[in-house]
Amino acid sequence: MSSEKRQASYWLRSIRGLRMRLAATYVILFALALLGLGFVFHRSVTGILNQQNERILDEEWRAMKAYLRFQRGELMWTYDPEDADEAYAVDRLRRVILLTDENGNVLELSNGYSALGGESMPQIRTVLRTHEPVSVIRHDARGDAYLVRMGVMRDQDRGFFVAIGLPIAETQRIPDRLLSGYLLSVPVMLLVIVVAGWYMAGRALRPLHQVAETARAVAGGNLSLRIPTRGSGDELDVLISAFNRMLERLELNFQQIRQFSVDASHELRTPITIIRGQLEVALYTAETTEQFREAIMTALLDVERMGQIVKSLLLLEQAESGQVVLRKSPLDITAASEELVSQFLVAYDEKDIALTVVADGPCWVEADRVQFDRLLSNLLSNALKYTHAGGHVEVILRREEDAVHLTVSDDGQGIPAANLPHIFERFYRVRETTPDADRGIGLGLAFVAWIARAHGGRVEVTSEPGHGSQFLVILPGRPQSGIPGPEPEHDTSLIP
Ligand code: ADP
Repeated sequence: MSSEKRQASYWLRSIRGLRMRLAATYVILFALALLGLGFVFHRSVTGILNQQNERILDEEWRAMKAYLRFQRGELMWTYDPEDADEAYAVDRLRRVILLTDENGNVLELSNGYSALGGESMPQIRTVLRTHEPVSVIRHDARGDAYLVRMGVMRDQDRGFFVAIGLPIAETQRIPDRLLSGYLLSVPVMLLVIVVAGWYMAGRALRPLHQVAETARAVAGGNLSLRIPTRGSGDELDVLISAFNRMLERLELNFQQIRQFSVDASHELRTPITIIRGQLEVALYTAETTEQFREAIMTALLDVERMGQIVKSLLLLEQAESGQVVLRKSPLDITAASEELVSQFLVAYDEKDIALTVVADGPCWVEADRVQFDRLLSNLLSNALKYTHAGGHVEVILRREEDAVHLTVSDDGQGIPAANLPHIFERFYRVRETTPDADRGIGLGLAFVAWIARAHGGRVEVTSEPGHGSQFLVILPGRPQSGIPGPEPEHDTSLIP
């Protein structure tokens, strides 16, 4: 892609991108808020000025009543012409005034009022009849507004119509002038807001870019990357922590899969090499049928082991992906353990290890007999593998409040503390402690953990290197029951 095209696509992405949308939303909201504010401001100033005009007109009206008095049945302006203040006040009042008698005959009409077009007879009559003062807005020929107050002045039985006007054009222009000044400043404010919005949206989204960059690097194969959290504990930090946890998990799984490939190919290669050797030797050196038979028998045993490994892998895969259906029924695991232990006695005797069961009576659980046997067999096989001759392995069963505790305890070689957190993971083996001949493929305890979980329980381990290990399986108990569980119908082969 040419650099111009790259630049163009960057801009296109930016415009469609989250940053643009965030900044645009921010700016639009601000613009609307500014316009709303301007509108409210204009309305308030107009309201205040109108009130003020009304108040001024009130005062003028009162002043007019003070200077316009009845003398000998006629309305006369009464003031001291020598007093400059009074003369000025009366002069101002008479600039916009209309005065008529009760018949509407004009007694006084100022130029200012005639510029407003005078007053219609019906209007004058209505005011004289109702005696109600009226305030209206009138405009002169130039379009300038006046606030006009009309009312009646009475002298015994005579009434006079009076109207005075107050020029309000100037005050009316104030809100508009303020508004236009404000509106002129809005684009400047918006420009500042655009810049600030763009910057703030960029700042807010920076961690997201980091997440995207890291995800891109991860997609490129680098799973060890982590995004530093900002320590603010906000939504982005939560997202980053979740992303980091996902990476940890992915890294671990990838390691396990890699390890598995190594282990599985190693496990399968060894018997294949042995079988091949045995068959070659038999082919070139065996002379009698007996010698051929013996070579084939040994090869068969190794093929059997390979088959077991493949079978275990398949089964664990099915179990962990939820494809194994448990056939649970009430099971007294004391009786089941005693039965299984009796099958192990020969193997334990051969290695000169004592194997005993300690139980305080029947322990009923809801379990799949086949899977329970698999769980205990794996623990017993491990105890046998990792305990020296002369050692002692104990299966202890205890009823707790609403659970049953099954412990397989040995006084064998134990497990180093550093390995303990991992031993239930698939394919995990403590290499140094595993005798070569007895090497499994690290699936036995993964099965134990899965079976315990699938029964609503869990498994815990405590161990001390050189002194032995205790595997405690906790299963939810069920009330004592005499109903025996069904005989296992399907495959009960044990895990290698
Ligand atoms: P494996 O097939 O290697 O036995 P497991 O999953 O059963 O796989 O066990 C995982 C690892 O845990 C083993 O490699 C072994 O080192 C350790 N381990 C399991 N049980 C015991 C035990 N009773 N004593 C000492 N180490 C044990």
